[in-house]
Amino acid sequence: MKLFCEDCGELDYILLDGYTIGDRVLEGVMFVFILKKGNVVLADKCVFYDNKFTTWKQDSYLRTLNDKYWLKQIKSVSSPDPEIDLFQCPICNDSDIITIKEK
Ligand SMILES: [Zn+2]
Repeated sequence: MKLFCEDCGELDYILLDGYTIGDRVLEGVMFVFILKKGNVVLADKCVFYDNKFTTWKQDSYLRTLNDKYWLKQIKSVSSPDPEIDLFQCPICNDSDIITIKEK
């Protein structure tokens, strides 16, 4: 299995705009998802902005939020069946061209 963008090719990770889950609470927070054992899962360094990856706890804004609640919401889009149209390619930012392909 691999993550694949029709325009950019194989991807190591895909992004989910927090806005789709938390509306204005998570607006602009980009969550990082990877493929692990065939499942789309939230990465350990789950947040990407300012061109770097960071964890929920290390982020000064996110750690003010109820992480248990929000992580549950975030995980609900990725398992058991990922709503793949919600995710964006980190290279072209397009969201309707990502697929999960068999090897
Ligand atoms: Zn792309």
